[in-house]
Amino acid sequence: MGKPYCAAIVLAGGKGSRMGTSIHKQYLMMAGKPVLFYSLKAFQDSDLIDEIFLVAGAGEEEYCRKNFVEKYGMSKVGAVISGGSERYHSVWNGLQKVGGEGYVFIHDGARPFVDQGMIRRVFEEVQLHKACVAGMPVKDTIKIADEHCNVAGTPDRSTLWAVQTPQVFEAGLIKKAYGMLMKEEGRRHVTDDAGVVEEMLHYPVKLVRGSYENIKITTPDDLTAGEALAHRLGI
Ligand code: C5P
Repeated sequence: MGKPYCAAIVLAGGKGSRMGTSIHKQYLMMAGKPVLFYSLKAFQDSDLIDEIFLVAGAGEEEYCRKNFVEKYGMSKVGAVISGGSERYHSVWNGLQKVGGEGYVFIHDGARPFVDQGMIRRVFEEVQLHKACVAGMPVKDTIKIADEHCNVAGTPDRSTLWAVQTPQVFEAGLIKKAYGMLMKEEGRRHVTDDAGVVEEMLHYPVKLVRGSYENIKITTPDDLTAGEALAHRLGI
């Protein structure tokens, strides 16, 4: 049997307000190239990925087409789609391009250190479990805070993982979960795709090791760390 069809939705529709610049975080330069370049290139170079759907900020589709797809020859990008006001709206817009067959990799464009090993690990696991996400066990002790910044609890650290992307799902499963979410009134705070599958379908999601280097470039500090990492990894 041949390899199943795999689509990647690469998200670049965020405003990056935590970066404190008017340029969105995924377009900022890091070690000579924009952050988004590295994320797109990982999927472009993967033999496992058939098609990429790039979700750009609303009104930035043409900018992305010229400055990423054409400039860097990202030939797998099948469409540049307009993003929405929240991350989950952007994912939803991307999912409209995906049929019901195969698997969907959802990846934050602001995570430039996704690598080929990670893409392969999640691909292997998703075929067994239908839903899996990259993440890493946390190194810090995590506290739950109440509204006054008092500690409300200390979960057992050995059970905690920090979740990353790619988050990968059977196409039918993730489309169904998001379809249900979008029908909900007063949607709760959604920050990752696995959460949608967990809450809407009560479907078990497998955690797969990403890497501690798979950081999201969110604040200026991350950009400094990212520069150093890019040099160390030689990317
Ligand atoms: O804001 P956050 O850090 O969760 O963003 C994660 C990823 O989702 C980023 O790559 C960002 O560009 C993308 N995003 C999006 N549409 C939004 C918000 C975020 O595509 N409305």
